[in-house]
Amino acid sequence: MEAAAATPLEATSPYEMRVNLGDEVGEVDVRTALKTGDMGFLHSFTTGSAVDGPGIRLVAWTTACMFRCQYCHNPDTWTLSNGIPVTLAAAIAEVQRYANSLKRMNGGLTLSGGEPLMQDRFVLRVLEAAHAMGVHTALETNGFFGERLSDEELADIDLVLLDMKAFTLEQHKRVAGIANEPVIAFAERLAALGRPMWLRYVLVPGLTDVPEEMARLADFAAGLGVVERVEILPFHQLGEYKWTKLGLDYQLHGVEMPTRDQVDAAIAIFASRGLKAC
Ligand code: SF4
Repeated sequence: MEAAAATPLEATSPYEMRVNLGDEVGEVDVRTALKTGDMGFLHSFTTGSAVDGPGIRLVAWTTACMFRCQYCHNPDTWTLSNGIPVTLAAAIAEVQRYANSLKRMNGGLTLSGGEPLMQDRFVLRVLEAAHAMGVHTALETNGFFGERLSDEELADIDLVLLDMKAFTLEQHKRVAGIANEPVIAFAERLAALGRPMWLRYVLVPGLTDVPEEMARLADFAAGLGVVERVEILPFHQLGEYKWTKLGLDYQLHGVEMPTRDQVDAAIAIFASRGLKAC
């Protein structure tokens, strides 16, 4: 099945609202797709990103996520069937189309979401194909399903962008509505394998700007020895309209973006542990 004709696979931005694009795929086909990776569900591809890994990136945004982060700016990606059904061949053709440019711009392909490892077989096969083209590969993940990838499969991923919502269990449940033991275990496994990692942390005033929490996360990250960079991502309200349109209960209405001083203070916590933070 090719991408639905009415909605282009490429979007100008992941902030485009996309729903129900995979509704017509039957349950059996969905199960087969998840098992084999022959087909995936994508919110979209976007081109020209300078913020999703090194260089200029092609980003494939997958649908489905098991977290419910209060600050999620793409809640339309929580549901698998909101995505466009895309064959593996079509996804690989999209990467091939940009492969030479991505290499010239020292960029690559990033699989993001949603949570890409909800579709681990499809995601892995796209990343493997990109790797075989000589394209740098990155996986942006919340880490919860990291165990779905074997050590050998992780070798096809040049960089893991690990989105850490919190360090302590209680705070993680508060922010993302779910426990984080598997996330911590995945980070430790990547470290044991010597796989390079960037750590990302969304700074939300009144929710995640908790110095003790960040200090514990920074200690943990520094101890891993493979974190090449920590990115503090300032919260914004670009996704609020999606919560409203989807009829979801948005808890962060009226919360301001963090100030430059708040962002700098967060960066300083990580930098003080010897981490490269920005
Ligand atoms: S992990 Fe990402 S996609 Fe999932 S709820 Fe959190 S911010 Fe949204």
